[in-house]
Amino acid sequence: MCGIFGIFNAEHAGKYAFYGIYALQHRGQESVGIATSDREGMYLVKKPGLVLEAITAKDMEALKGDTAIAHVRYSTSGDSGGSNAQPLLKETSLGQTALVHNGNLVNYHTLKTSLQERGVSFYHTSDSELFLTLLDVGEYVPQHIKLHPEDERILPKIFFALSKVKGAYSVIYMFRDRLVVARDPYGFRPLLIGRLKNSILFASESCAFDILGAETWREVKCGEVIVVDKKGIRSYQLFRQDKKAMCIFEFVYFSKPEVFLFGDWVYRVRKAMGMALAREDDIDGDVVVPVPDSGVVPAIGYSQEKGIPLELGIIRNHYVGRSFIEPTQELRDIKVLMKLNPNRAVLEGKRVIVIDDSLVRGTTSRKIVSMLKRAGAKEIHLRIASPPVIGPCYYGIDTPTKEELIANRFSPEEIRQFIGADSLKYLSLEGLKSCVKKSEDFCDACFSGVYPVEYEDKALRMR
Ligand code: SF4
Repeated sequence: MCGIFGIFNAEHAGKYAFYGIYALQHRGQESVGIATSDREGMYLVKKPGLVLEAITAKDMEALKGDTAIAHVRYSTSGDSGGSNAQPLLKETSLGQTALVHNGNLVNYHTLKTSLQERGVSFYHTSDSELFLTLLDVGEYVPQHIKLHPEDERILPKIFFALSKVKGAYSVIYMFRDRLVVARDPYGFRPLLIGRLKNSILFASESCAFDILGAETWREVKCGEVIVVDKKGIRSYQLFRQDKKAMCIFEFVYFSKPEVFLFGDWVYRVRKAMGMALAREDDIDGDVVVPVPDSGVVPAIGYSQEKGIPLELGIIRNHYVGRSFIEPTQELRDIKVLMKLNPNRAVLEGKRVIVIDDSLVRGTTSRKIVSMLKRAGAKEIHLRIASPPVIGPCYYGIDTPTKEELIANRFSPEEIRQFIGADSLKYLSLEGLKSCVKKSEDFCDACFSGVYPVEYEDKALRMR
């Protein structure tokens, strides 16, 4: 769960990176970092917290240059301490090298252990470090690739690194005079290219281009490596394979609704999920109420398909700042409900169909149902616009362990009782797949239990 951004050939690149990464804040709230290059050297700022709060005007003054990369982090691998915040910056055999990574590697521990046995040192506990460390370990150019003379020094080392790591990655390397981006062969995480006058941009989601007035050009292809420097843009199809595994959860919850990714509009897919759920459902109700924000778009689809009016029965408080780790259940309940407030004008005496995007632990849904009942709802029918989450994600989304997933421990009826709803229904896996254009190109492992890439570190971690 991270957002990445890069820009080449822009005056005040650091400022563009600041606004670009701000537009991706929803992809990670733990830390933010920006690195820039002015050809003479690199400049780096990274801090815990949100973009607007963490990065100061003084920080921005230090970020000189016409090339920049940026990152917002929500840790999925490695501890959440500051040393794992990105961009990572390292002196490699290619000179100063900075990196941002979205995704999660499935062979990090295995690879790291074998490199350490060969005397290679590591300074962080995050899998992203491997992309830099491996630059100094070997070189590789597959037979089908003919390198441009400009790329003969750098790309063999990057190709070597990419041929060793397995799992999910969208990465941007920054060198003093160029950017190199890559997306894993399965394409788990999104990465797009944009254009703004003479600048080339990269971002996890197109909303980062929108905020800058840039045009979304295209997606970085699965297994593609792109180099951008003063000579132009060069693309290499490093990996050739038919099987893709783009993360379907990006459509369910993670990405912003106005974004175009994986060849489709998130809004269209998310609305289709609500419509599919409505077709699978025979419940009747007086109002459809979304859990804001991620339940809103599927609720629109559900309401339109069923012909039941959509009403804002839960209002989101937009001014929630920091909160504390609370010692008692009562205080923890208050913390969840700080964000959401019941709207009695809509709820009192009504049969309410509540739409949420997903149900993972069940604790938040339970609090919402209890809140709506206290506000006078007559019946509450909870509808989830995705299937039960039955497995963890090894590819970069911070889902809980298998034991923490409520759908693994209890039957749907037991979950309904725990949550306190009058009825509970999920969208079926077939229903979810019917909402994307080519379902065989998507990973749905956390819903289906079918993992496209084996988690190689499992045995090592259990030792
Ligand atoms: S396991 Fe789930 S969250 Fe992880 S990549 Fe696959 S669909 Fe996405």
